[in-house]
Amino acid sequence: MQCGKVRKLAITGAGAQPNLKALHDIVFSGDRPDKMPRATTNPLKFQEAKFSSSSVKKRALVCGAGGFIGSHLVRRLKREGFWVRGVDLKLPEFGPTEADDFVLGDLRRQDVCHRVIDSGFDELYQFAADMGGAGYIFTGDYDATVMHDSALINLNVIELCRALDVRKVFYSSSACIYPTYNQADPKNPKCAEDTAYPAAPDSEYGWEKLFGERLYLAFRRNHGLQTHIARYHNIFGPEGPWAGGREKAPAAICRKIAVARSGDTIDIWGDGEQTRSFLYIDECLEGTVRLTRSGFAGPVNIGSEEMVTINQLVDLVADIAGKQIGKNHIAGPEGVRGRNSDNRLIRAQLDWEPTARLRDGLEATYRWIEEQVRASR
Ligand code: NAD
Repeated sequence: MQCGKVRKLAITGAGAQPNLKALHDIVFSGDRPDKMPRATTNPLKFQEAKFSSSSVKKRALVCGAGGFIGSHLVRRLKREGFWVRGVDLKLPEFGPTEADDFVLGDLRRQDVCHRVIDSGFDELYQFAADMGGAGYIFTGDYDATVMHDSALINLNVIELCRALDVRKVFYSSSACIYPTYNQADPKNPKCAEDTAYPAAPDSEYGWEKLFGERLYLAFRRNHGLQTHIARYHNIFGPEGPWAGGREKAPAAICRKIAVARSGDTIDIWGDGEQTRSFLYIDECLEGTVRLTRSGFAGPVNIGSEEMVTINQLVDLVADIAGKQIGKNHIAGPEGVRGRNSDNRLIRAQLDWEPTARLRDGLEATYRWIEEQVRASR
Protein backbone atom coordinates (compact mmCIF):
# COMPACT_ATOMS: atom_id res chain seq x y z
CA MET A 1 0.00 0.00 0.00
CA GLN A 2 1.30 3.48 -0.85
CA CYS A 3 1.29 5.90 2.08
CA GLY A 4 0.76 9.09 0.13
CA LYS A 5 -1.13 10.20 -2.94
CA VAL A 6 0.25 8.97 -6.28
CA ARG A 7 -0.43 11.21 -9.25
CA LYS A 8 0.36 10.42 -12.86
CA LEU A 9 1.38 13.48 -14.85
CA ALA A 10 3.03 12.23 -18.00
CA ILE A 11 5.37 9.37 -18.46
CA THR A 12 7.55 8.79 -21.43
CA GLY A 13 9.94 5.90 -21.16
CA ALA A 14 13.64 6.69 -21.59
CA GLY A 15 14.19 7.57 -25.23
CA ALA A 16 10.48 7.54 -26.09
CA GLN A 17 8.78 10.47 -27.79
CA PRO A 18 6.68 12.59 -25.44
CA ASN A 19 2.96 12.15 -25.94
CA LEU A 20 1.93 15.80 -25.96
CA LYS A 21 -1.77 15.23 -26.40
CA ALA A 22 -1.91 12.87 -23.43
CA LEU A 23 0.03 15.37 -21.35
CA HIS A 24 -2.40 18.17 -22.13
CA ASP A 25 -5.34 15.92 -21.35
CA ILE A 26 -3.95 14.98 -17.96
CA VAL A 27 -1.82 17.86 -16.79
CA PHE A 28 -3.53 20.87 -18.20
CA SER A 29 -7.10 19.80 -17.61
CA GLY A 30 -7.53 22.70 -15.17
CA ASP A 31 -4.98 25.29 -16.22
CA ARG A 32 -4.24 26.42 -19.75
CA PRO A 33 -0.50 26.21 -20.57
CA ASP A 34 -0.29 30.01 -20.90
CA LYS A 35 -1.50 30.32 -17.31
CA MET A 36 1.16 28.00 -15.95
CA PRO A 37 3.91 29.52 -13.76
CA ARG A 38 6.55 31.08 -15.95
CA ALA A 39 10.24 30.81 -15.29
CA THR A 40 10.59 34.56 -14.78
CA THR A 41 7.92 34.95 -12.10
CA ASN A 42 7.26 33.55 -8.69
CA PRO A 43 3.54 32.82 -8.52
CA LEU A 44 3.75 31.24 -5.06
CA LYS A 45 5.26 34.00 -2.96
CA PHE A 46 2.56 33.97 -0.33
CA GLN A 47 2.76 30.20 0.14
CA GLU A 48 6.48 30.52 0.77
CA ALA A 49 5.84 33.03 3.55
CA LYS A 50 3.42 30.59 5.13
CA PHE A 51 5.95 27.79 5.07
CA SER A 52 8.63 29.91 6.67
CA SER A 53 6.76 29.63 9.97
CA SER A 54 8.49 27.15 12.27
CA SER A 55 5.12 25.69 13.34
CA VAL A 56 4.57 24.49 9.77
CA LYS A 57 6.13 21.29 8.48
CA LYS A 58 9.18 21.72 6.30
CA ARG A 59 8.71 20.65 2.71
CA ALA A 60 11.11 18.68 0.57
CA LEU A 61 11.06 17.60 -3.06
CA VAL A 62 12.95 14.45 -4.02
CA CYS A 63 13.58 14.10 -7.77
CA GLY A 64 14.28 10.47 -8.60
CA ALA A 65 12.25 9.30 -5.57
CA GLY A 66 11.48 5.98 -7.23
CA GLY A 67 15.20 5.13 -7.41
CA PHE A 68 17.55 3.58 -4.91
CA ILE A 69 18.96 6.61 -3.06
CA GLY A 70 15.85 8.77 -3.60
CA SER A 71 13.44 6.24 -2.06
CA HIS A 72 15.68 5.81 0.98
CA LEU A 73 15.93 9.59 1.38
CA VAL A 74 12.14 10.00 1.26
CA ARG A 75 11.91 7.59 4.22
CA ARG A 76 14.60 9.47 6.12
CA LEU A 77 12.98 12.89 5.53
CA LYS A 78 9.61 11.54 6.65
CA ARG A 79 11.22 10.32 9.87
CA GLU A 80 12.52 13.84 10.37
CA GLY A 81 8.98 15.21 10.06
CA PHE A 82 9.12 16.70 6.57
CA TRP A 83 6.20 16.88 4.16
CA VAL A 84 7.71 15.16 1.09
CA ARG A 85 6.84 15.16 -2.57
CA GLY A 86 8.59 12.57 -4.73
CA VAL A 87 8.78 12.53 -8.50
CA ASP A 88 10.04 9.82 -10.82
CA LEU A 89 9.19 7.89 -13.96
CA LYS A 90 8.42 4.94 -11.71
CA LEU A 91 7.42 4.04 -8.16
CA PRO A 92 10.05 2.44 -5.90
CA GLU A 93 10.53 -1.16 -6.96
CA PHE A 94 10.91 -2.88 -3.61
CA GLY A 95 8.39 -1.30 -1.28
CA PRO A 96 5.81 1.43 -0.94
CA THR A 97 6.88 5.05 -1.10
CA GLU A 98 6.46 7.02 2.10
CA ALA A 99 6.12 10.32 0.21
CA ASP A 100 3.05 12.40 1.05
CA ASP A 101 2.62 13.08 -2.64
CA PHE A 102 4.27 11.01 -5.37
CA VAL A 103 4.18 12.26 -8.94
CA LEU A 104 4.77 9.86 -11.81
CA GLY A 105 6.23 12.27 -14.34
CA ASP A 106 9.08 12.88 -16.73
CA LEU A 107 11.49 15.61 -15.61
CA ARG A 108 12.91 15.94 -19.13
CA ARG A 109 9.71 17.84 -19.82
CA GLN A 110 9.59 21.47 -18.78
CA ASP A 111 5.82 21.41 -18.40
CA VAL A 112 6.01 18.49 -15.96
CA CYS A 113 8.74 20.28 -13.98
CA HIS A 114 6.48 23.34 -13.73
CA ARG A 115 3.80 21.19 -12.14
CA VAL A 116 6.12 19.42 -9.75
CA ILE A 117 8.29 22.29 -8.57
CA ASP A 118 5.28 24.41 -7.82
CA SER A 119 5.88 25.95 -4.44
CA GLY A 120 8.48 26.96 -1.93
CA PHE A 121 10.34 23.82 -0.96
CA ASP A 122 12.77 24.12 1.92
CA GLU A 123 15.01 21.44 0.43
CA LEU A 124 15.20 19.94 -3.05
CA TYR A 125 17.24 16.81 -3.75
CA GLN A 126 18.05 16.07 -7.40
CA PHE A 127 18.80 12.37 -7.97
CA ALA A 128 16.96 11.80 -11.25
CA ALA A 129 19.36 10.53 -13.89
CA ASP A 130 19.79 7.77 -16.39
CA MET A 131 22.40 5.61 -14.71
CA GLY A 132 23.53 2.09 -13.86
CA GLY A 133 26.57 -0.01 -13.02
CA ALA A 134 29.61 -0.72 -15.21
CA GLY A 135 27.54 -2.97 -17.48
CA TYR A 136 25.34 0.01 -18.31
CA ILE A 137 27.73 2.98 -18.24
CA PHE A 138 30.93 1.56 -19.76
CA THR A 139 29.62 -0.33 -22.77
CA GLY A 140 28.95 3.00 -24.52
CA ASP A 141 25.61 1.71 -25.80
CA TYR A 142 23.59 4.24 -23.81
CA ASP A 143 25.92 7.28 -24.03
CA ALA A 144 23.57 9.54 -25.99
CA THR A 145 20.60 8.87 -23.71
CA VAL A 146 22.67 9.20 -20.55
CA MET A 147 24.02 12.60 -21.60
CA HIS A 148 20.89 14.00 -23.21
CA ASP A 149 18.35 12.97 -20.58
CA SER A 150 20.32 13.89 -17.48
CA ALA A 151 21.36 17.26 -18.96
CA LEU A 152 17.73 18.09 -19.80
CA ILE A 153 16.54 17.15 -16.31
CA ASN A 154 19.16 19.32 -14.63
CA LEU A 155 18.56 22.30 -16.93
CA ASN A 156 14.84 22.16 -16.19
CA VAL A 157 15.19 21.65 -12.44
CA ILE A 158 17.79 24.32 -11.70
CA GLU A 159 16.02 27.02 -13.73
CA LEU A 160 12.79 26.44 -11.79
CA CYS A 161 14.70 26.46 -8.50
CA ARG A 162 15.96 29.90 -9.47
CA ALA A 163 12.54 31.15 -10.54
CA LEU A 164 10.76 29.86 -7.44
CA ASP A 165 13.47 30.64 -4.92
CA VAL A 166 13.91 27.08 -3.69
CA ARG A 167 16.13 27.51 -0.67
CA LYS A 168 18.48 24.56 -0.67
CA VAL A 169 19.27 22.42 -3.68
CA PHE A 170 21.30 19.21 -3.55
CA TYR A 171 22.88 17.74 -6.68
CA SER A 172 24.21 14.16 -6.81
CA SER A 173 27.42 14.06 -8.79
CA SER A 174 29.76 11.10 -8.94
CA ALA A 175 33.32 9.88 -8.41
CA CYS A 176 33.10 9.05 -12.13
CA ILE A 177 34.08 12.69 -12.85
CA TYR A 178 37.68 12.05 -11.71
CA PRO A 179 40.34 11.85 -14.45
CA THR A 180 41.42 8.44 -15.69
CA TYR A 181 45.10 9.44 -15.50
CA ASN A 182 44.91 9.70 -11.68
CA GLN A 183 43.29 6.29 -11.27
CA ALA A 184 45.73 4.03 -13.10
CA ASP A 185 47.51 2.72 -9.98
CA PRO A 186 45.07 0.49 -8.07
CA LYS A 187 47.01 0.93 -4.82
CA ASN A 188 47.22 4.70 -4.97
CA PRO A 189 44.32 6.39 -6.77
CA LYS A 190 44.03 10.17 -6.44
CA CYS A 191 40.49 11.39 -5.85
CA ALA A 192 40.89 14.62 -3.87
CA GLU A 193 38.27 17.12 -5.01
CA ASP A 194 40.83 19.54 -6.48
CA THR A 195 42.23 16.87 -8.83
CA ALA A 196 39.13 16.92 -11.06
CA TYR A 197 40.83 19.15 -13.66
CA PRO A 198 42.23 18.91 -16.33
CA ALA A 199 39.12 16.83 -16.82
CA ALA A 200 39.38 13.33 -18.30
CA PRO A 201 36.53 11.14 -17.01
CA ASP A 202 36.44 7.63 -18.46
CA SER A 203 32.74 7.70 -19.41
CA GLU A 204 30.18 10.05 -20.95
CA TYR A 205 28.27 9.61 -17.66
CA GLY A 206 31.26 11.24 -15.89
CA TRP A 207 31.38 14.10 -18.41
CA GLU A 208 27.66 14.72 -17.99
CA LYS A 209 28.06 14.81 -14.19
CA LEU A 210 30.85 17.35 -14.59
CA PHE A 211 28.56 19.50 -16.71
CA GLY A 212 25.89 19.14 -14.02
CA GLU A 213 28.32 20.27 -11.31
CA ARG A 214 29.29 23.34 -13.32
CA LEU A 215 25.64 24.15 -14.01
CA TYR A 216 24.69 24.07 -10.30
CA LEU A 217 27.82 26.05 -9.38
CA ALA A 218 27.05 28.69 -12.04
CA PHE A 219 23.51 29.15 -10.69
CA ARG A 220 24.96 29.57 -7.21
CA ARG A 221 27.44 32.17 -8.46
CA ASN A 222 25.11 34.14 -10.72
CA HIS A 223 21.75 33.75 -8.93
CA GLY A 224 22.66 33.16 -5.29
CA LEU A 225 21.07 29.70 -5.05
CA GLN A 226 22.28 27.56 -2.16
CA THR A 227 23.39 24.61 -4.27
CA HIS A 228 25.31 21.73 -2.67
CA ILE A 229 27.16 19.10 -4.68
CA ALA A 230 28.35 15.67 -3.55
CA ARG A 231 30.50 13.24 -5.51
CA TYR A 232 29.15 9.84 -4.44
CA HIS A 233 31.45 6.82 -4.39
CA ASN A 234 29.60 3.52 -5.09
CA ILE A 235 26.55 3.59 -2.83
CA PHE A 236 25.10 0.20 -1.92
CA GLY A 237 22.51 -1.34 0.37
CA PRO A 238 19.15 -3.09 0.51
CA GLU A 239 16.47 -2.07 -2.00
CA GLY A 240 18.99 -1.26 -4.72
CA PRO A 241 19.04 -2.86 -8.17
CA TRP A 242 20.40 -6.42 -7.82
CA ALA A 243 19.69 -7.93 -11.27
CA GLY A 244 18.81 -6.84 -14.78
CA GLY A 245 21.98 -5.00 -15.86
CA ARG A 246 21.91 -1.78 -13.78
CA GLU A 247 23.22 -3.36 -10.57
CA LYS A 248 26.64 -2.37 -9.21
CA ALA A 249 29.47 -4.65 -8.09
CA PRO A 250 28.37 -5.28 -4.44
CA ALA A 251 24.82 -6.21 -5.48
CA ALA A 252 25.97 -8.31 -8.44
CA ILE A 253 28.46 -10.22 -6.26
CA CYS A 254 25.90 -10.73 -3.47
CA ARG A 255 23.43 -12.10 -6.05
CA LYS A 256 25.96 -14.43 -7.68
CA ILE A 257 27.00 -15.81 -4.29
CA ALA A 258 23.39 -16.12 -3.07
CA VAL A 259 22.62 -18.19 -6.18
CA ALA A 260 25.82 -20.29 -5.95
CA ARG A 261 26.36 -23.42 -3.89
CA SER A 262 29.43 -23.72 -1.68
CA GLY A 263 32.28 -24.92 -3.93
CA ASP A 264 30.93 -23.13 -7.04
CA THR A 265 32.86 -20.56 -9.09
CA ILE A 266 31.46 -17.17 -10.11
CA ASP A 267 32.45 -14.90 -13.04
CA ILE A 268 34.33 -11.67 -12.23
CA TRP A 269 34.99 -8.95 -14.82
CA GLY A 270 38.74 -8.39 -15.25
CA ASP A 271 41.47 -9.77 -12.99
CA GLY A 272 39.65 -8.58 -9.86
CA GLU A 273 42.65 -6.54 -8.73
CA GLN A 274 40.91 -3.22 -9.57
CA THR A 275 40.17 -1.29 -6.36
CA ARG A 276 37.11 0.59 -5.15
CA SER A 277 35.45 1.79 -1.95
CA PHE A 278 31.76 1.26 -1.24
CA LEU A 279 29.49 3.38 0.95
CA TYR A 280 26.47 2.03 2.78
CA ILE A 281 23.20 3.84 2.00
CA ASP A 282 22.55 5.13 5.56
CA GLU A 283 25.88 6.96 5.63
CA CYS A 284 25.26 8.35 2.16
CA LEU A 285 21.98 9.86 3.40
CA GLU A 286 23.64 11.25 6.51
CA GLY A 287 26.33 12.98 4.44
CA THR A 288 23.76 14.24 1.97
CA VAL A 289 21.51 15.97 4.50
CA ARG A 290 24.48 17.32 6.46
CA LEU A 291 25.93 18.85 3.31
CA THR A 292 22.58 20.27 2.17
CA ARG A 293 22.04 21.97 5.54
CA SER A 294 25.59 23.28 5.77
CA GLY A 295 27.08 26.48 4.41
CA PHE A 296 29.44 24.47 2.21
CA ALA A 297 28.71 24.19 -1.51
CA GLY A 298 31.13 21.41 -2.44
CA PRO A 299 31.75 19.58 -4.67
CA VAL A 300 32.80 17.14 -1.97
CA ASN A 301 33.34 13.38 -1.91
CA ILE A 302 30.76 11.35 -0.04
CA GLY A 303 32.35 7.93 0.15
CA SER A 304 34.21 5.45 2.29
CA GLU A 305 38.01 5.36 2.53
CA GLU A 306 37.97 1.58 3.09
CA MET A 307 39.42 0.55 -0.27
CA VAL A 308 39.26 -3.10 -1.37
CA THR A 309 40.01 -5.05 -4.53
CA ILE A 310 37.06 -6.70 -6.25
CA ASN A 311 38.63 -10.06 -5.33
CA GLN A 312 38.61 -9.02 -1.65
CA LEU A 313 34.98 -7.93 -2.01
CA VAL A 314 34.08 -11.39 -3.32
CA ASP A 315 35.93 -13.07 -0.42
CA LEU A 316 34.16 -10.85 2.09
CA VAL A 317 30.70 -11.67 0.73
CA ALA A 318 31.56 -15.38 0.48
CA ASP A 319 32.59 -15.29 4.14
CA ILE A 320 29.34 -13.57 5.12
CA ALA A 321 27.39 -16.20 3.14
CA GLY A 322 29.43 -19.00 4.71
CA LYS A 323 30.29 -20.44 1.27
CA GLN A 324 33.51 -21.47 -0.49
CA ILE A 325 33.47 -19.50 -3.74
CA GLY A 326 35.99 -19.72 -6.61
CA LYS A 327 36.61 -16.87 -9.07
CA ASN A 328 36.56 -17.13 -12.84
CA HIS A 329 38.08 -13.94 -14.30
CA ILE A 330 36.51 -13.05 -17.62
CA ALA A 331 36.66 -10.04 -19.98
CA GLY A 332 34.10 -7.34 -19.17
CA PRO A 333 33.71 -3.62 -18.50
CA GLU A 334 35.95 -2.68 -15.55
CA GLY A 335 36.11 1.11 -15.37
CA VAL A 336 39.21 2.73 -13.92
CA ARG A 337 41.95 0.60 -12.33
CA GLY A 338 41.73 2.15 -8.88
CA ARG A 339 39.37 4.48 -7.03
CA ASN A 340 38.95 5.45 -3.40
CA SER A 341 37.24 8.30 -1.59
CA ASP A 342 39.50 11.01 -0.19
CA ASN A 343 37.72 12.37 2.88
CA ARG A 344 40.05 15.19 3.93
CA LEU A 345 37.72 17.90 2.61
CA ILE A 346 34.49 16.53 4.10
CA ARG A 347 36.23 16.08 7.48
CA ALA A 348 37.42 19.69 7.38
CA GLN A 349 34.17 21.23 6.14
CA LEU A 350 31.47 19.17 7.87
CA ASP A 351 33.43 17.78 10.79
CA TRP A 352 31.95 14.42 9.79
CA GLU A 353 32.82 11.44 7.62
CA PRO A 354 31.49 7.92 7.08
CA THR A 355 32.83 5.44 9.63
CA ALA A 356 30.84 2.22 9.18
CA ARG A 357 32.73 -0.94 8.23
CA LEU A 358 32.18 -2.30 4.73
CA ARG A 359 31.49 -5.72 6.24
CA ASP A 360 28.51 -4.42 8.26
CA GLY A 361 26.84 -2.87 5.21
CA LEU A 362 27.52 -6.00 3.16
CA GLU A 363 25.93 -8.23 5.81
CA ALA A 364 22.66 -6.25 5.63
CA THR A 365 22.79 -6.12 1.83
CA TYR A 366 23.59 -9.81 1.41
CA ARG A 367 20.71 -10.79 3.69
CA TRP A 368 18.30 -8.66 1.64
CA ILE A 369 19.54 -9.94 -1.76
CA GLU A 370 19.45 -13.54 -0.54
CA GLU A 371 15.76 -12.99 0.33
CA GLN A 372 15.10 -11.53 -3.15
CA VAL A 373 16.80 -14.50 -4.81
CA ARG A 374 14.80 -16.95 -2.69
CA ALA A 375 11.53 -15.12 -3.42
CA SER A 376 12.23 -15.07 -7.17
CA ARG A 377 12.69 -18.86 -7.42
P1 NAD B 1 18.62 5.18 -9.60
O1 NAD B 1 18.77 4.84 -11.04
O2 NAD B 1 18.14 4.11 -8.68
O3 NAD B 1 17.69 6.45 -9.42
C1 NAD B 1 17.55 7.44 -10.40
C2 NAD B 1 16.06 7.63 -10.63
O4 NAD B 1 15.88 8.69 -11.58
C3 NAD B 1 15.38 6.37 -11.21
O5 NAD B 1 14.35 5.93 -10.36
C4 NAD B 1 14.83 6.85 -12.54
O6 NAD B 1 13.57 6.29 -12.89
C5 NAD B 1 14.71 8.37 -12.31
N1 NAD B 1 14.66 9.08 -13.57
C6 NAD B 1 15.45 8.88 -14.66
N2 NAD B 1 15.06 9.69 -15.67
C7 NAD B 1 14.00 10.40 -15.19
C8 NAD B 1 13.16 11.38 -15.77
N3 NAD B 1 13.31 11.77 -17.03
N4 NAD B 1 12.17 11.90 -15.01
C9 NAD B 1 11.97 11.50 -13.71
N5 NAD B 1 12.77 10.57 -13.12
C10 NAD B 1 13.74 10.03 -13.86
O7 NAD B 1 20.05 5.74 -9.14
P2 NAD B 1 20.61 5.97 -7.66
O8 NAD B 1 21.62 4.92 -7.41
O9 NAD B 1 19.49 6.15 -6.71
O10 NAD B 1 21.40 7.33 -7.86
C11 NAD B 1 20.80 8.59 -7.61
C12 NAD B 1 21.69 9.68 -8.13
O11 NAD B 1 22.99 9.59 -7.54
C13 NAD B 1 21.93 9.63 -9.65
O12 NAD B 1 21.92 10.92 -10.15
C14 NAD B 1 23.28 8.99 -9.78
O13 NAD B 1 23.92 9.38 -10.97
C15 NAD B 1 23.99 9.53 -8.54
N6 NAD B 1 25.07 8.63 -8.13
C16 NAD B 1 24.77 7.41 -7.62
C17 NAD B 1 25.81 6.55 -7.26
C18 NAD B 1 25.52 5.18 -6.71
O14 NAD B 1 26.47 4.47 -6.39
N7 NAD B 1 24.27 4.77 -6.57
C19 NAD B 1 27.13 6.95 -7.39
C20 NAD B 1 27.40 8.22 -7.91
C21 NAD B 1 26.35 9.06 -8.25
